[in-house]
Amino acid sequence: RIRVTGLEKSFGENKVLRGIDFESARGTSTVLLGPSGSGKTTVLRSLNALELPERGTVAIDDVEVDFAALPKGKAGRRESSRLRAQSGMVFQAHNLFPHKTVLENVIEGPVIAQGRAREEAVADAEALLAQVGLADKAGSYPFQLSGGQQQRVGIARALALKPRVVLFDEPTSALDPELVGEVLAVIKDLAAEGWTMVVVTHEIRFAEQVADQVLFLDGGVIVERGPSAQVIGDPREERTRRFLKRIL
Ligand code: ATP
Repeated sequence: RIRVTGLEKSFGENKVLRGIDFESARGTSTVLLGPSGSGKTTVLRSLNALELPERGTVAIDDVEVDFAALPKGKAGRRESSRLRAQSGMVFQAHNLFPHKTVLENVIEGPVIAQGRAREEAVADAEALLAQVGLADKAGSYPFQLSGGQQQRVGIARALALKPRVVLFDEPTSALDPELVGEVLAVIKDLAAEGWTMVVVTHEIRFAEQVADQVLFLDGGVIVERGPSAQVIGDPREERTRRFLKRIL
């Protein structure tokens, strides 16, 4: 379960988040939609303390951070990293280690960061690679894979940490159009399997199919929220309607 209250974040004079509140139940997918610059990525990065808002709280299951009360220095970093450990993040570009094989990329986090036994991490990684359709690529290097395959390794790598929540930051926006579908299909499978996830995307049709909850952001606030059939299918707010008309 994710619970967010009162997030406010500025970059210099630019107030990017102006009070963001939402909840996501366990096993549900939440999709953030909105125009460029509306604050979607900043919300996502705040969920795992890659951005530190000035105010507000984020709780993922039993780990809660109150950003205004975050201590400076080492104690603050320790609290942030407790929150970060609750989630796995899939970025726009996969940023795999180029000199490591696919399998080594996937076991890096569990073995190095989490101190898990290598044999166990390898067994888990092989299962995850099968799940994302890459069972036969464990020994390949990233440069030998297509962009879509690399991104699917990025997903396996995030899941290998056994996070409570998976965060996707525009996971298909750096891909050639013909590679988008295979990555979205993997994310849909994960949602159906019951992973709790938050996804920033511009793929409206995908959002419609996968989201239990859609949050439409504009100017650092959630302008409209609800089930995808309502927010995408029958939006109430003029700003949502205008946005959807532009991109559909
Ligand atoms: P997009 O769809 O284009 O990715 P977004 O809705 O995800 O947009 P954010 O990336 O959250 O929007 O950015 C919101 C605003 O914050 C933008 O005006 C952006 O320029 C600004 N911003 C984001 N990160 C930084 C940063 N590290 N330093 C300064 N400004 C930033």
